[in-house]
Amino acid sequence: MTLDLSLPAPELTAAICDINSVSGNERDLADAVESALAGFGHLSVSRSGDTVVARTELGLSERVVIAGHLDTVPVAGNLPTRREGAVLWGRGTVDMKGGVAVMLRLAASVGTPRRDVTYVFYDHEEVEADRNGLGRISRESPDLLAGDFAVLMEPTAAAVEGGCNGTMKATVTLRGTASHSARWWMGSNAIHAAGDVLDRLRRYEPQVIEVDGLTYREGLNAVDIAGGIAGNVIPDHCVVSVNYRFAPSRSEADAEAHVRDVFAGFEVAVADSAPGARPGLTHPAVASFVAAVGGTPRAKYGWTDVARFSALGLPAVNYGPGDPSLAHHDDERVDVGEIEQCEARLRAWLAGEQ
Ligand SMILES: [Zn+2]
Repeated sequence: MTLDLSLPAPELTAAICDINSVSGNERDLADAVESALAGFGHLSVSRSGDTVVARTELGLSERVVIAGHLDTVPVAGNLPTRREGAVLWGRGTVDMKGGVAVMLRLAASVGTPRRDVTYVFYDHEEVEADRNGLGRISRESPDLLAGDFAVLMEPTAAAVEGGCNGTMKATVTLRGTASHSARWWMGSNAIHAAGDVLDRLRRYEPQVIEVDGLTYREGLNAVDIAGGIAGNVIPDHCVVSVNYRFAPSRSEADAEAHVRDVFAGFEVAVADSAPGARPGLTHPAVASFVAAVGGTPRAKYGWTDVARFSALGLPAVNYGPGDPSLAHHDDERVDVGEIEQCEARLRAWLAGEQ
């Protein structure tokens, strides 16, 4: 399969969507991306698994990384794509092959950018985090991702969403003494003891924290509660699982300390966590990006792969075509004007053209 990068971005988006690349099946699309970019003298192209990295090597003082994933969630009878006026329907049109098409068009046509650019097309974003291609590159070849600033072209309806909140899952375990419920006074009920945990959650006032000029809204919520083994047994064990979404100004260690503080006196264990990402809007490269693409940046609440860049020391934002609320839906569709707008604005930022 070959991709014609001279196609207008909406047509290129359709062509990319029509190459099935459900997670685990990215090879055909990765091959097509690699061969489409290999012929450009201004790009140094490398491949790791089904991740393709294309870099300009102009020796400029700043480097930006523009990234997008090649995979999609499973197809739901919504391929091949179809076009109705300005709307392109089909799997991947929002998440996130419009962004991939923009990246390919820019990689092919902006031969002398104002900052060096690294384009990263990666695999396995829509599945378990340990298979994520961007994570793999960051562990195996972090130099490939080196830069001053990163743009992740996930769908944001063409608005700048800076950084992301971190996320932590923790458990609060209550212990009691089992007994027959007919002789309940001989036991101690662990589920009743969870009431104190729930009271603390109900009283909790989540903070709103400004980071680099954006406002991040935190949250601490119970997401699961488990306890009890039978209808006639006083439970000796109850576990309340909580999810803490924390502002990117907090480290994971800070977040853990906060959770332990909220549940002081209880048995707390951290199950897993992922750090947030600062938006870095005060960095010159980021400020010029925001000025070029326009609009008022807002904070990203959900965790995204921008945090992988943040862990490498790059501030990062989300910016891409498509309404994120349509991602993964059977009726996934994009207004092609957003794809064209993202391409034009990124081109203006990279190349100084309109
Ligand atoms: Zn996505």
